[in-house]
Parts: sequence; C-alpha cells; structure tokens
Amino acid sequence: MINKIFCNYSQIDCLVRESGNSVKNEFNPDIILAIGGGGLIPARILRSILEVPIYVVTISTYDENDKPIKEPRIVQWMDFSLLKDKKILIVDEVDDTRKTLSFLVDKLVNEENLNSENLGFFVLHNKIKEKVISKKALKIGYYKSGLEVEDKWIIYPWD
Ligand code: 5GP
Repeated sequence: MINKIFCNYSQIDCLVRESGNSVKNEFNPDIILAIGGGGLIPARILRSILEVPIYVVTISTYDENDKPIKEPRIVQWMDFSLLKDKKILIVDEVDDTRKTLSFLVDKLVNEENLNSENLGFFVLHNKIKEKVISKKALKIGYYKSGLEVEDKWIIYPWD
C-alpha cells in the first residue's frame, strides 16, 4: 500500500487555478494572508487570479531542531492594525489536524480584534480525518480546499 501522496508543481498550479475563480466569486477577499512557508507558492499563484496583495505570517509546528511540538509557535508576525475591516483569505498548503489554522484564527480574533466572518481559508489539500476543531466552530466566513485527500503524508515539490 502506498502511504504517501506525491504532488508536483503542475498539479498545484491546476488546483489553485481551478479553485481561484470560486474563491473570487464566493468570498472575494481584499488581501491574501499566506502562512509561511507552505502557503507561499499557492498564495502567489492565487494572487494572479484574485489580484490582491499578499501578506505573510510564519507559524511553525516544529522546534529549532525540526522536532514536532505540541502547540504551534509564531516565527514571524505582522501589524494587523491596517487590516481591521478587510476580508482576509488565509492560505496554507495542507489542513491536517487544523491546529495551525485554529491557532491563527484565535490570535487574529482574540488578540488582533479581527472579525472572524471576515476571515476565509484556502488550502491545497484537506485531509479527511478528525480535526482539533470543526469548520463551524471556527466561525470563519469561508473555507475552501483544492482537494480532499486521505490521511496520508503529502510530499510537496518544495519538501
Ligand atoms: P496542521 O496539523 O496544523 O493542520 O498542519 C501543520 C503543518 O504541518 C502544515 O502547515 C504543514 O507544514 C505540516 N504538514 C501536515 N501534514 C503534512 C503533509 O502531509 N505533508 C507535509 N509536507 N507537511 C504537512
């Protein structure tokens, strides 16, 4: 049994382009907030369709020695005061346990005072598995995945 999913740049390009128009019609964000590093390339492809600026925060679920850690940690943050009433599309490569998204949404809503309805999420792959929080409980305004996949480790071309 193959327990890995291999994904190349061309498939990623297709996934983002196929979803881009739906994201525009259904959510129409003012800005893209890429989660570094996995969200950077999907965000850049999406920008060609959405034609809005990209901002970046970096969140890691690994420590300095590349060991997995229990709680995500912020590696790089930004000033959100200018984005108060903007519709923000968060972009990442994979929704696995959903810890990262949950952590980010919590910070944006409870510490940066953003409205959760103004937050949307686009991800290349959503793994079909139990998550730490449901989409409904996140209370975000929009969620879209390029592809729903089995709970297997995905190898991205940048890995
Ligand atoms: P989360 O569990 O918070 O949804 O995902 C945390 C992070 O773990 C992702 O942003 C990604 O960097 C990494 N990750 C989770 N599953 C995979 C996977 O299948 N392949 C790769 N390359 N990274 C993954």
